[in-house]
Amino acid sequence: MRNIGFIGCGNMGGAILNGILKAGLLAPEHIFIHTATPAKREELAAKLHVCAVNSNREVVENADLIILAVKPYLFDEVFAQIKEVLSEDKVLISVAAGQSLANMEKLSSAETKIIRTMPNTPASVGEGMSAVTPNKNCTQKDIEETMAIFTSFGKAEIIPEHLMDAVPAVSGSSPAYIFMLINALCDGAVRDGMSRSMALTFAAQAVLGSAKMVLESGIHPEQLKDMVCSPGGTTIEAVAKLEEKGFRDAVLAGMKACTDRLKEMN
Ligand code: NAP
Repeated sequence: MRNIGFIGCGNMGGAILNGILKAGLLAPEHIFIHTATPAKREELAAKLHVCAVNSNREVVENADLIILAVKPYLFDEVFAQIKEVLSEDKVLISVAAGQSLANMEKLSSAETKIIRTMPNTPASVGEGMSAVTPNKNCTQKDIEETMAIFTSFGKAEIIPEHLMDAVPAVSGSSPAYIFMLINALCDGAVRDGMSRSMALTFAAQAVLGSAKMVLESGIHPEQLKDMVCSPGGTTIEAVAKLEEKGFRDAVLAGMKACTDRLKEMN
């Protein structure tokens, strides 16, 4: 694995960095980071034993695979800083929502190796879900190393770029809705007399176990739901009430709002 650099290391960059280190993919001394706030990057570097450098340009000079994890509105500024040192052997890996390969090629050059990705923050606990789309300049080795990075902290799939805008709503942003669901389950359990800390364990483990059943059984979620609903029982009452309150509609409307916002940002 070649050296890895991070331009930006906040929620998403930090989750990826943690994931790489936890998986032991690369020794920390081969990882270079730069963020906006000197104190923050020094603290992170001291904690994780990675190398903090003083500019985005230095990240590119020291690393071969560069993870670009800043907010999309900073792209013009950051590309202007790194363009000169972004030689044809470097691979730029963007995690930014809504930034197309064509736009990034315009900001760098048509020859730059660019990989557009969309990970999510469960990467920090080794359960990330990432979509990956390389541009035409990337070699097999570039793609394999990128997949090694993104599978070191979860699952990753190579997908065509036209599907990239569907990914934030279903996996990039969806941890936020799942955390809301877990918290709502906790509120319900607290109302029924459970302590909040006990409720958190029950709710989070139920979500984790349900997700594992979907992934491991290969059974359709609708059928899995039916298997929990005994005739005339308690669960079907809960399901009927959730349908009445627009549970499914609310999820679909939230996802549409996410995708619409992404289009506005493009
Ligand atoms: P964030 O937590 O605000 O982190 C942004 C990082 O960028 C911070 O480390 C910040 O440094 C750094 N930064 C700001 N200006 C910089 C500059 N000029 N040069 C270098 N570093 C700079 O944001 P985030 O949530 O991680 O989002 C980053 C990217 O990840 C976005 O493009 C977003 O679309 C994508 N993404 C996020 C998620 C998610 O769940 N959060 C999921 C998928 C994709 P300081 O902290 O030192 O100020």
